Amino acid sequence: MEPILEASNIVKVLGSGAAEVRALKGVSLELMPGELTLLMGPSGSGKTTLLSILGCILTPSEGTLRIGKNMATGLTSEGMADLRRRHVGFVFQSYNLVPTLTAAENVMLALELRGTPLSEAPGIAENALKQVKLAHRAHAYPSKLSGGEKQRVAIARSLAGSPSVILADEPTAALDSENGKAVMALLSEVAKDKGRGILVVTHDHRTLSYADRLVRIEDGKIVGRARRRARPGDGAAAAADH
Ligand code: ADP
Ligand code: MG
Repeated sequence: MEPILEASNIVKVLGSGAAEVRALKGVSLELMPGELTLLMGPSGSGKTTLLSILGCILTPSEGTLRIGKNMATGLTSEGMADLRRRHVGFVFQSYNLVPTLTAAENVMLALELRGTPLSEAPGIAENALKQVKLAHRAHAYPSKLSGGEKQRVAIARSLAGSPSVILADEPTAALDSENGKAVMALLSEVAKDKGRGILVVTHDHRTLSYADRLVRIEDGKIVGRARRRARPGDGAAAAADH
């Protein structure tokens, strides 16, 4: 099977002059359709920088990125923004919901930014909220939702554009155990649905059981890769580290 996202030899230099930091030192990573990959590593190891590059928010200093059939490197900033809007959904630790909009309106705002016709937005938003089991909270404002519910709205918002890749930066960090588990279960379900590739940055060990693959990063380099779960039809050997 073809990876849905393929990053090769990504180098990222941040800052300039004496403050220059080589945040990524040649990182290669693939996301497979239908799989949830966890990216784990200590604070400052380059996780957020890598996620920003994979999501076409930052351009790499060196290396190449492909999402689906599209080469993301060498594009103009408009080209990158377009690729991001069409293919990438983001989920953040702090939810990033607009407080003055209801759950459904938050999802519809994301659709509006993507240029979805206004007449289609309510139906798409309703479906996305159904997928995260929050249809009954569609008209609630974020202040009336629990942390877990807010994160599920954020996942609905990321799903609404039918992205092929979802990138989540520490999505469970602000949640208690039960809500964290619910969010991870939802993300792994969403990966299986329609063959999306999902990357979750975390240092929350409670998330491990939801991963198909595990990638470890330290000091801007990948230091370990493991397959956590065999795909149906794979031999036993595929479950071992590779
Ligand atoms: P993580 O998400 O794993 O905690 P980051 O990707 O945020 O790590 O940061 C990786 C490294 O790059 C760290 O050393 C951080 O201090 C540095 N860094 C992050 N953003 C910038 C920036 N805008 N300018 C300079 N250095 C930065
Ligand atoms: Mg980070």
